Amino acid sequence: MKAYVRHEMGVLGWMEKPDPVCGKDEAVCRPIALCPCSSDVHTAWEMDGAWLKDITLGHESIGEIVEVGEEVKDFKVGDKVIVPCTTPTYKHPDFQDTPDEDAGGQFQGICFSNYSDGTMAEKYVVRSADLNLCKLPEGLALDKAIMVTDMMTTGFHGAELCEVKFGDTVVVFGIGPVGLMAVAGAKLMGAGKLIAIGTRPNCVAIAKEYGATDIVSYKEGDICEQIMKLTDGRGADAAIVAGGSAETLGQAYSIVRCGGHMTNLNVITGVNEITFSYLQSAAGFMGHKTINGGLCPGGRRRAERLTSMILAGRVDPSRLVTHTFHGLDSIPEALQLMKDKPKDLIKPIVYID
Ligand code: NDP
Ligand code: ZN
Repeated sequence: MKAYVRHEMGVLGWMEKPDPVCGKDEAVCRPIALCPCSSDVHTAWEMDGAWLKDITLGHESIGEIVEVGEEVKDFKVGDKVIVPCTTPTYKHPDFQDTPDEDAGGQFQGICFSNYSDGTMAEKYVVRSADLNLCKLPEGLALDKAIMVTDMMTTGFHGAELCEVKFGDTVVVFGIGPVGLMAVAGAKLMGAGKLIAIGTRPNCVAIAKEYGATDIVSYKEGDICEQIMKLTDGRGADAAIVAGGSAETLGQAYSIVRCGGHMTNLNVITGVNEITFSYLQSAAGFMGHKTINGGLCPGGRRRAERLTSMILAGRVDPSRLVTHTFHGLDSIPEALQLMKDKPKDLIKPIVYID
């Protein structure tokens, strides 16, 4: 079968691979929709590592099941499914005390295009199918459903990790697709003032639709000063980082009030050190602030819950889709677009007709 792979860092191409073998509790799917992600860009062009050689890219997909293992009870060939990008094995003792994303070792839950082949291929295998797959509800549009796989679960997780409470002032650093979902998640969790940082006009417009009350441009003056002004000098209750650089972490920490929460969702590559100035660190990390950060929670129940929020009309994540492609052969172009990030891009989708 055909798979779109990262041969070496920055060297991508189509490769002929054997059909995936379906284990007893696994399902093999053919993609019916795929989205490239900023994380694919990091994997393809920025991350080095022998384990990534010739790995199939992609982790956001809606699939149609073409084969199931004999132990799979709830899914059958022909079912259309939402495939979370985090698909833990559930067979490791870490599950008793570690988030599922990291059970078996950090990032092991997000195996697609990290530790095993991803979804940008004619077929891909999903482990622990009964525990990871979510049936695609009849009539739910693919451009909504596919956002459950990563953008919604990740962005919402930012708000969860910050423990947003009714009336909290929340700042979201970066309003690409992840940050926009963090804005939507923070609003749903009860944020009061909701400050979004970014500049792309369509992202700014959707941030406002999703609940941002104030927009700050990181290109126009000191963002920390702007945020402190907007919060009357008190600082925010919570800061979610979904863009920027290593420097952004220090900025986010510094604008959180004492006792508040800061969470990082951004994949930061190409740095060896992350530094916080003494002042940014609330006088030597003595401000009772919580620093957190995490990966997109996966698994079936999570996907079902997020899907139910779309069905109930709580959020329309298809607002993120700005570019549409058709056919497996358009994957390279869609991924390249994600790398180039033209001003009007938020998220491309590829329909595999
Ligand atoms: P985008 O590149 O689309 O968005 C980045 C955002 O950051 C843009 O709004 C951009 O503004 C803004 N930005 C850029 N520089 C700064 C700055 N100095 N200060 C504040 N904001 C800034 O990224 P995505 O939304 O697609 O992804 C965000 C990150 O999340 C990526 O690193 C991705 O890999 C990661 N990710 C993490 C996951 C997880 O599980 N933790 C899962 C999926 C993705 P502008 O409007 O000017 O472009
Ligand atoms: Zn992704």
